[in-house]
Amino acid sequence: MAKVLIIGAGGVGAVVTHKCASVPEVFSEIVLASRTKSKCDKIAAAVKGTPVITDQVDADNVEETIALIRKYNPDLLINVALPYQDLSLMDACLATKTHYLDTANYEPKDVAKFEYKWQWAYRDKFKQAGITGILGCGFDPGVTSIYTAYAAKHYFDEIHYLDIVDCNAGDHGKSFATNFNPEINIREITQRGKYWENGKWIEVDPLSIHKPIDYPNIGEKESYLLYHEELESLTANFPTLKRARFWMTFGQKYINVLNVLQEVGLTSIKPINYEGKEIVPLQFLKAVLPEPASLGEGYTGQTSIGCQIRGIKDGKERTYYIWNNCDHALVYKEIGAQAVSYTTGVPAMLGAKMLLEGKWGGAGVFNVEEFNPDPFMAEIGTYGLPWNEQIDEPLPVEK
Ligand code: NDP
Repeated sequence: MAKVLIIGAGGVGAVVTHKCASVPEVFSEIVLASRTKSKCDKIAAAVKGTPVITDQVDADNVEETIALIRKYNPDLLINVALPYQDLSLMDACLATKTHYLDTANYEPKDVAKFEYKWQWAYRDKFKQAGITGILGCGFDPGVTSIYTAYAAKHYFDEIHYLDIVDCNAGDHGKSFATNFNPEINIREITQRGKYWENGKWIEVDPLSIHKPIDYPNIGEKESYLLYHEELESLTANFPTLKRARFWMTFGQKYINVLNVLQEVGLTSIKPINYEGKEIVPLQFLKAVLPEPASLGEGYTGQTSIGCQIRGIKDGKERTYYIWNNCDHALVYKEIGAQAVSYTTGVPAMLGAKMLLEGKWGGAGVFNVEEFNPDPFMAEIGTYGLPWNEQIDEPLPVEK
């Protein structure tokens, strides 16, 4: 029985709240707070199970967040606001000795760059405070990191080649929308690509490497090499990796619209003066795009996210592919969400459950692949994200 404080009432926040409320034997008290309280109230009204208390907070403001934590005294804070708030929320957790969990690593507002170094710098402080910080417990990062740890533990003596493949073959019927926060999503996609090979990072132009990859139950989809944050922690935690890459699918229309938005300057994060007021073009763009939480109705098709791994077991080469497919319409029917929010929110709830039940923990700051993957893998299917695996078959990414 524990009290949890969820920060952020967007697409992912709604899923985490629904899923925590559906496990009242662990999450006996739930507080949901965000910048806009009316969004918390709307979610609370729709949730079944543990009742949800709502509140308002500006999570950029450490003192305000400390006051909120002291008001409710939760065991754990789940951060599903934006990556910009990671450090201020970690500071508030330190000041109040509250455990912390998030789904995306810190990035500063004024530079489109994400890196773990800022959050890893909290390791000693969390250790001294005797609290646990869990980083990146969504799907990617999150489940993909746990899949990698599970594969390394059970199927390989050494893993050498890792390809994380992320396909959204869904159709939301909108001409252009992003499946998670538009600002964070567009910053991620428009930065230079990067992958790990033979002990160093190789940088490439944005979206310049691409090829069709075959996805289970979906078929071939054009997939683009991107830099994604779990590559940083996985290459550090699995030093036998000779190569680690991340691929994501985009439709041609999405790429065309994105190119136009870039060319006219709407994806820029450099402030401009508009009628005497300073505005950031990308923030303005976010304001006119659909909110991720609003995409669920009428969304059809599936996501398919997994890890394709090549390595050595008992002196022989082995391949292993593990993945989850998630259906947009089914998760909408279950809790009114779309599959990208769902595949992020379910692991966040389960990571929180692992911590509160003592299956994961320790004083310090950890990426999820550092924990025992087995209890998480034993339960993730029960909560809506079952997995499939193939051993010693050709890897689709290598075809
Ligand atoms: P949304 O934009 O739908 O929601 C973000 C929420 O955070 C909104 O409710 C917003 O409030 C709130 N928020 C923003 N700033 C503040 C602040 N200063 N104080 C309090 N609340 C604030 O985004 P998503 O739900 O799609 O994404 C949430 C997080 O999940 C992001 O960090 C994203 O990167 C991460 N993510 C991780 C994935 C993974 O697999 N690991 C995949 C997808 C997303 P308001 O409504 O007022 O703007």
